[in-house]
Amino acid sequence: QAVRPFNFSAGPAALPHEVLSQVAEEMLDWHGSGMSVMEMSHRGREFISIYETAEADLRELLQVPEHFRILFMQGGGLGENAILPLNLSRGGAVDVVVTGSWSKKSAAEAKRYADVRIAANAAELPGANGRYLDIPAPSTWQLRRGASYVHVCTNETIDGIEFQALPDLKALGHDAPLAIDFSSHVASRPVDWSRVGLAFAGAQKNIGPAGLTLVIVREDLLGHALPICPSAFDYKIVAEAQSMYNTPPTFGIYVAGLVFQWLKRFAYGGKTGLAAIEQRNIDKAALLYAALDGSSLYENRVAASCRSRMNVPFFLRDERLNDAFLAGAKERGLLQLKGHKSVGGMRASIYNAMPLEGVQALVSYLKDFETRHG
Ligand code: PMP
Repeated sequence: QAVRPFNFSAGPAALPHEVLSQVAEEMLDWHGSGMSVMEMSHRGREFISIYETAEADLRELLQVPEHFRILFMQGGGLGENAILPLNLSRGGAVDVVVTGSWSKKSAAEAKRYADVRIAANAAELPGANGRYLDIPAPSTWQLRRGASYVHVCTNETIDGIEFQALPDLKALGHDAPLAIDFSSHVASRPVDWSRVGLAFAGAQKNIGPAGLTLVIVREDLLGHALPICPSAFDYKIVAEAQSMYNTPPTFGIYVAGLVFQWLKRFAYGGKTGLAAIEQRNIDKAALLYAALDGSSLYENRVAASCRSRMNVPFFLRDERLNDAFLAGAKERGLLQLKGHKSVGGMRASIYNAMPLEGVQALVSYLKDFETRHG
């Protein structure tokens, strides 16, 4: 395998090397069909087999129960911010927990279709001063009886905040379904489906190319779309047509399917599959946070209990060194470490496809740079 730099992009993000090689090999002639996957009818035998395998593999990997439907859609995470209330709000009450930039955006978009209330806002926690550094305790959430659903972003990509366990709304005395935006940590850890009504994710971080959007929805939530909901975004119509109501993002589904196969055979620390990738994600994150915490040049400000395993924002205490830091990183083959423009600083996204060696290389660069400039 050719040596490639380590890519810390938040998304579109690095894909497993093996998957990219396989895509390259199969590009001109998929399995003797004489066609690229991009050139096949979505209703043909070849593509249907790709689609069915991808769906079955994902169901197995994430242990998705039978009463949930898996939809392969388009529209991305932001599209889902509208598609979700169009399908589930019934024009009524929607409670949103704001824990970072993405859930804040979701609340604003849902307001166009539903009566939105911010059930809790991390930026208003004592000492937060408008920053997102912690998750308000679920027992403090101001949830309304009769809300159509409760929206939570379970991994805030920009702020580096992750729910380490899904909130148990039933235990809080609420029967509204929980809708989660799990775009940036999908397939990095198991999901407790007993706590979830719907989950959506853009593919471009952990699953495949941008353009594919994954929706996993409990069957009883289908069939309540508002009349203004576009038919191609009506979950029930899409579910009944096996995601083929209109042309699905075929190439994205194919690449995602290869990623699911890669995950299924993934082995690490004596484990395989999702348990193995989760263990490697835990180890990678622990290594990186330990390096940041042990330094006097860098800092990560997120509460230890909700630090993301996937997105690690950090700051140089002397911000004048930012440009030198990024230039030196690039020279060492460590790419796309610049933080999101809204928070500044740096961000290392270490999704499933990032090998342990990538995080080790970053940690060794952090130390060398600090020795030179600290
Ligand atoms: N939600 C989360 C958690 C995200 O990280 C992103 C993209 N970074 C989005 C939503 C928006 O997704 P898209 O760009 O696919 O619309």
